[in-house]
Amino acid sequence: MREQLSTAEAVKTLLLKIGYHRLWSHRAYNASFPLQLFLLAGGTSAVQGSCYWWARAHRSHHRHTDTDLDPYNSSRGFLWSHIGWMIFKSKFHPGPSDVSDLRRDQLIQWQHRHYLVLLVIFGLVLPIAVAGFLFDDWMGGICFAGALRLTIAHHVRP
Ligand SMILES: [Zn+2]
Repeated sequence: MREQLSTAEAVKTLLLKIGYHRLWSHRAYNASFPLQLFLLAGGTSAVQGSCYWWARAHRSHHRHTDTDLDPYNSSRGFLWSHIGWMIFKSKFHPGPSDVSDLRRDQLIQWQHRHYLVLLVIFGLVLPIAVAGFLFDDWMGGICFAGALRLTIAHHVRP
């Protein structure tokens, strides 16, 4: 189960980096619609917010690095820049960045509107169901593919 967990985690992290980060935050390449669906599902499974929210914060980070306008501002401390920016509401707001392309992107806006439902499906139900149906290990699915995978996903970065 450990190998399956680490493989699933590596694939999920890779999909987040390829999709949320390189495709939608930086527009580093173009992707076909089926590939966008696949990358968006993979990014959703990482449970790090909607792509619109994540990419908006990431663009703001690159534009305003280590200032009060940077949502991951490292001068607020390691825990803040590591995970705090995702969990806690801050009195500081991300600085302006151009996200007009993301506002026009219907797929990104659809995922943003339905993020909570998609998060439950791709972040919890699907990983647990794979462990349950393929390996007849529902408890392992809940513990490893659910809880432990998400804990690792938020603490280990490639
Ligand atoms: Zn970047």
